[in-house]
Amino acid sequence: MSYDECYIKSVMRTIPDWPEPGIQFRDITPLFKDPKALRMIADSFIQRYIDSEITHIASIDARGFLIASIVAYQLNIPLVLVRKKGKLPGETVYEEYKLEYGTASVEMQIDAVTDGDKVLVFDDLIATGGTVLAACSLIKQLGGEVIEAAALIDLPDLQGSARIQDAGVPVHALMAYE
Ligand code: AMP
Repeated sequence: MSYDECYIKSVMRTIPDWPEPGIQFRDITPLFKDPKALRMIADSFIQRYIDSEITHIASIDARGFLIASIVAYQLNIPLVLVRKKGKLPGETVYEEYKLEYGTASVEMQIDAVTDGDKVLVFDDLIATGGTVLAACSLIKQLGGEVIEAAALIDLPDLQGSARIQDAGVPVHALMAYE
């Protein structure tokens, strides 16, 4: 089954003014109720990375987990978690980053990644790029190399994917919303 962007966009929905006025929230939850859409998306990432040098997928809390876990299972490689701060037990590293208003932090367990690991960072959506860049910073602190950042959706108007690429990390997104 080949990837069909029109079909995927017809399954997804946009919720205006959520969680704040002015935000067009791209809701991916309907994709998980549609096995055809989910399979198309997962297969597209699997095909891209099946013969790649990637050794680990670092998935971002929480919607990133959902698709990354399918891809990691199919590629037979480890899945590691980048979580919002305060959710992971044991020794961790964390990185704070700026949101439009205030700050946020993401955290990883120190043994999630080690020297020489070649990591794909995975999230559902790239907006300002702050979350992915913070994840990349944690992976580098732990000795890993970020090979690419992947997402279902890019919002190019917010310049996040450009920021990530400026930082030396290639970006692959299945679709964009202008
Ligand atoms: P950012 O760090 O600005 O790139 O934001 C990316 C994170 O925020 C992702 O984990 C997304 O799930 C979430 N996010 C930001 N903007 C939106 C949006 N318009 N619709 C859905 N999720 C969003």
